[in-house]
Amino acid sequence: MKRIILFSCLCITLATVNAQDSVFVRNTIRDLTSPQFHGRSAAFRGDSLAADYLAAKLKAVGALPLADGYLQPYTFNTCILDGKVELALGRKKLVQGVDFSPVSISKPCNGKYKMLYFDAKRIDKENEVQQFRTEYKKVLSKSFVYLDVSDEGELNKSALRIVNQIKRGTNPLGSAGVVLGVKSMPAMSIPANVKPMDYSVLYVKSDLMTELPKKIKVRIDNRYACHHTQNVAAFVPGTLCKDSMIVFMGHYDHVGQVGSVYYPGAHDNASGTSAVLDLARHFAHHPAKYTTVFLFFSGEESGLMGSKFFAKNPLIDLAKVKIVVNIDLFCGGDDGIVVFNAQADNTKAFFEKMKAVNAERGYVADIEPRKNSANSDHYPFVEKGCPAIFILTKGGAYGGYHSPTDTCEGCAINKYNDVWNLIMETLGL
Ligand SMILES: [Zn+2]
Repeated sequence: MKRIILFSCLCITLATVNAQDSVFVRNTIRDLTSPQFHGRSAAFRGDSLAADYLAAKLKAVGALPLADGYLQPYTFNTCILDGKVELALGRKKLVQGVDFSPVSISKPCNGKYKMLYFDAKRIDKENEVQQFRTEYKKVLSKSFVYLDVSDEGELNKSALRIVNQIKRGTNPLGSAGVVLGVKSMPAMSIPANVKPMDYSVLYVKSDLMTELPKKIKVRIDNRYACHHTQNVAAFVPGTLCKDSMIVFMGHYDHVGQVGSVYYPGAHDNASGTSAVLDLARHFAHHPAKYTTVFLFFSGEESGLMGSKFFAKNPLIDLAKVKIVVNIDLFCGGDDGIVVFNAQADNTKAFFEKMKAVNAERGYVADIEPRKNSANSDHYPFVEKGCPAIFILTKGGAYGGYHSPTDTCEGCAINKYNDVWNLIMETLGL
């Protein structure tokens, strides 16, 4: 009797497990974008906390570990801005991520600095810079220089070259720091293995610089350290062809926390991470004929660090991979999807089938093929000869890109079920 009851309970449980589960996905996005994960990077080891969260979820849904505790550890060096990051113009304190943001590889600084102004539009010859350096020689080492670059179209080639040098680690102005005036904050990026520069750079909204302050107070607590991180890896054995694998992947890291402001990264890529976790949940309950593999990478935002490490140190036999589906930037989708590496010799059959499925079923507004690009975690697998595509959604709605505004609330998942159905039907699962 007990057995019969247990069996019927099991049947009910299985019958009520949906294919895709947008509530599960929404809850996972909400969790991953919460302050407790600090934007999922090296700052406060937010990515490791997120990895533990994912490992616990994979265990709970019944996917099996591909490594001890589902985790594949590795390291890279990076700047970490988990101390204070502050800017005051005169007496006015600005808000990090909204009014200003530092370049992440800035030299640490803390103090009051003289503010000098250099009209970027005046730079038409290199000697303009030399004249400026000569004029302010005595104070440059204690000064920040403001350059308004909010309208790059108005700058000539010499000025643009100097601005690019400043962003990349050479300061032709010779000052302690540079403030670049912009219309809106550029996307935050924190690269791997790039040491801090020997000067500091900040972006500031140019409309806050109408009254030019004589002094600014700047603090950038930046440290360069070896970051211990990990990929998360799970699988569900196939029912018929255990030796053939379909690999779903997405990066779970984001750009982290800068000062007191964290970057939630809902679109990039809590959304894709949640979709891959939902796939693991689904296949754990309904195993496919092929083995399904679920990879969650860290370090993507720092230069595909996690996926490069995995491709070099694979926990699976890459020769047995039928297809890699990388999901990155998965909110919105009102205008359809973009498929990178869609027309390689080993992916174009998949892409053609996807188009045919969509033509018949009308799941998404458009499927746009793109060439291969080293812009996400599929790339190291393409280099290893795997058939690998990268899918992102296009059109609204999402809150922003590498900005504190990329929140769970801003991330629409109304197209989630349609994109899921399109991928599953294309895969014949
Ligand atoms: Zn991404």
